[in-house]
Amino acid sequence: MSHIQTPPVQQKTVVEFAGVAKRYGSHLALTEFDLTLQPGELVALLGPSGSGKTTALRVLAGLESCDDGRILINGDDVSGLPTSRRDMGMVFQSYSLFPHLSAGENVEFGLRMRRVPAAERRERAAAALALVGLDAHYGRFAHELSGGQQQRVALARALVTRPRVLLLDEPLSALDAKVRVQLRDEIRRIQTELGITTLFVTHDQDEALAVADRVAVMRDGRIEQVGTPEELYTRPATPFIADFVGLSNRLPGAVRHGFAEVHGVVLPLLDPSHADGPVRVFVRPEDLTLVTAGTPGDAPAGMSLAGIVLVSSFLGSLRRTSVQLEQGGTVVVQHDVRDRHQVGESVLVRFAGAPVPVEAVQDLAAALPRRPRLVR
Ligand code: ADP
Ligand code: MG
Repeated sequence: MSHIQTPPVQQKTVVEFAGVAKRYGSHLALTEFDLTLQPGELVALLGPSGSGKTTALRVLAGLESCDDGRILINGDDVSGLPTSRRDMGMVFQSYSLFPHLSAGENVEFGLRMRRVPAAERRERAAAALALVGLDAHYGRFAHELSGGQQQRVALARALVTRPRVLLLDEPLSALDAKVRVQLRDEIRRIQTELGITTLFVTHDQDEALAVADRVAVMRDGRIEQVGTPEELYTRPATPFIADFVGLSNRLPGAVRHGFAEVHGVVLPLLDPSHADGPVRVFVRPEDLTLVTAGTPGDAPAGMSLAGIVLVSSFLGSLRRTSVQLEQGGTVVVQHDVRDRHQVGESVLVRFAGAPVPVEAVQDLAAALPRRPRLVR
């Protein structure tokens, strides 16, 4: 529909949480919470359930007051303003469409509240629906739309008032995997097109890494690390981040003289100043390769460990193979699909030598998992 204009590019909006704290009774849901979103930036707030993500979003939206600190929009303190005057669009996990209104009427709702004349309302709602690819669905009711379509309508409804900030709280969590990825990419496209400063709350690390300019990882009401997806993945600041972001093997080892040692394999440390002692070593499956034992491509001594293939899974674009190490324990190796390894085959697991994060443990026995563990 060429006569329909999409909403204009947003004014540049900076959002700032400055030393925000929020208490529920004696429970500190947010503490020392500092985060700045640059104009047009999409920041994902990532963390386990209960870490305070929704609380942060609700404080920003003005749905909760904060006990300490301030919320600034373009430098202005909005902490005392009600939600209606903060100019933010919101989408939540559960579809929150009015069932007795059509998709178009749902989208028009915010404009009706603002007393926008009917003709303009209708045109802007149609434009917002076009933006999310639903221009043909103006007259449909919620029960006539799929889950993904309902969330698109919710997104159109959030954007139709041309808010300065977009807030999304687990907007994809109720959708099935394929729709989730489609809508995730669509949200990113629209957000980039509009240049709207966006806070995207999720507990799903794949989603956060895929969609965000920067990711803020939360734990117990605090931000543990903020960085680009690549920074978080390659340089996790803490063992919690190493454990929570991406897939890692945990191996028992020790730090000695600024290096990590795993069954005699010596690896550089991400933090070379780490104190000597027993540790749990985090190794990415893609930082390991497999070589059939006794072949010409045999791994050099010192950087490999012998083992037996337990299971190998074809994942389309790669294979993931679990190996029982001679020294005990299991590692998962991610490798090229063209390299096939049979169950029971003797292999060498070669370490690429990428710098590893480690976590200090009481003693080596504590570092040894009882069962093979692959953490996500
Ligand atoms: P997340 O969105 O990361 O799962 P929340 O922000 O919803 O976490 O919750 C953070 C913590 O605050 C949790 O321990 C939760 O139980 C608590 N909490 C959240 N909302 C309330 C409330 N209205 N009253 C009391 N406790 C709450
Ligand atoms: Mg939540």
